[in-house]
Amino acid sequence: MSMTQEAQVKKYLAYWFLLGKPIIINNGKETLLPKPIFVGQQYSPQFEACWQKITDKNNGDCYLEGTQQTIQELLSPLWDLDPCARCSMPVPQKIGGAPVLNCTCQDLENWPNSELPPPNLPSDNGVKLARIRQTLMAKNKD
Ligand SMILES: [Zn+2]
Repeated sequence: MSMTQEAQVKKYLAYWFLLGKPIIINNGKETLLPKPIFVGQQYSPQFEACWQKITDKNNGDCYLEGTQQTIQELLSPLWDLDPCARCSMPVPQKIGGAPVLNCTCQDLENWPNSELPPPNLPSDNGVKLARIRQTLMAKNKD
């Protein structure tokens, strides 16, 4: 796996963990939601330990609750992570495939929520966060 792809998938998990969406590992036998996600500008030891479990082949398929795509698939070059049309959160997008209609956010209550600040990652996410803010600001004008 490339470092860029790994960083993207980690970011995807961090965003959704911040909204309280857990990851299911070990073919459905175990559910993980590390806390905290960050310590200062870094991923927390809890998050890194969770990531080690996710990328350990002995733990089978791992996927965010309510999603179809496994983390293993997302780490392959066939998949990308794009902002959701509804809430701008990163969602799996098959490269060259049809847009994802079932957003990862669909089973979250009160989401998207323009009254809450968007999930905030500590570093180098300027572009995506700016996009989330723009979307939220556009919604607030309605
Ligand atoms: Zn969404």
